[in-house]
Amino acid sequence: MSRSQTTLKTSVSIEGVGLHSGHPVRTVFRPAPAGHGIVFRRLDRDGAEIPARVGSASTFDYATTLSSGGVSVGTVEHVLSAAYGEGLDNCSIELDGPEIPILDGSALPFVRLFHAAGFERLDVPVTPLAVNQPVEVSRDSRGVSFRPDGPGLTITYEIEFRHPVVGRQELTVAVKPEEYSSKIAPARTFGFAREVEALRSRGLARGGSLQNAVVLDETGILSGPLRFRDEFVRHKVLDLIGDLALLGAVLDGHIHARKAGHALHIEFARALARAASSSPAESASAAEQPRRRASSRR
Ligand SMILES: [Zn+2]
Repeated sequence: MSRSQTTLKTSVSIEGVGLHSGHPVRTVFRPAPAGHGIVFRRLDRDGAEIPARVGSASTFDYATTLSSGGVSVGTVEHVLSAAYGEGLDNCSIELDGPEIPILDGSALPFVRLFHAAGFERLDVPVTPLAVNQPVEVSRDSRGVSFRPDGPGLTITYEIEFRHPVVGRQELTVAVKPEEYSSKIAPARTFGFAREVEALRSRGLARGGSLQNAVVLDETGILSGPLRFRDEFVRHKVLDLIGDLALLGAVLDGHIHARKAGHALHIEFARALARAASSSPAESASAAEQPRRRASSRR
């Protein structure tokens, strides 16, 4: 039996700067009805709506951006990760700038905000994404694979960086709210100091600082103590959950990622959406409109 869809009990807001744009932005989270899903609204662009859907995703190496009708919203992966991880299905996210604020570089501020608002259960079940066969995407030694052995979603992630603080890290975690908020949400984004200048010359990381990322130099950490010894792989799990949230449905199965990033995550999400739409089960367009289907079936 699927759980009920949820939304927030009340509106809450948070302010900060965008990691890449450096622009200050205010973000307001409002309750939304069953079937609405997560939808961003750019108040500075006449309220243009950008649904959190994999079809509107474009990525570069360091973040996931959504675009719809010529309007975009950047760095959506941490807030979407918090929503999926905590089981928040329906929310209108208003912002007055081009990018979700980076805050401390983790998903924890969003989780705390959702908890402060409280969750409202709605009288409509969530729709699981119906994928009954294994799915895999890979590039050389990098890859992401899915096996349909639920119930629930389990993620195994492996990373390897030639750095004394990182090295090889592997984590397996069950994606449930209590596990998510304690083990995954606090893990911060990370980057290498030598890459920062290159990023800035491309107009990226302008809001990045030692306060909102784990910054590594050649041998150590510039930004103070880690929150977990394996904070790096935990953040990769956080990012993957955020990118998979663009499917707009609940996943049941085991996902195994190796040295992946946003581009491969999104390619994998698209492969899952195709597999769901070709599945003989009920889900002809589950990846496109799962929650609207759920509400229209009621
Ligand atoms: Zn991230």
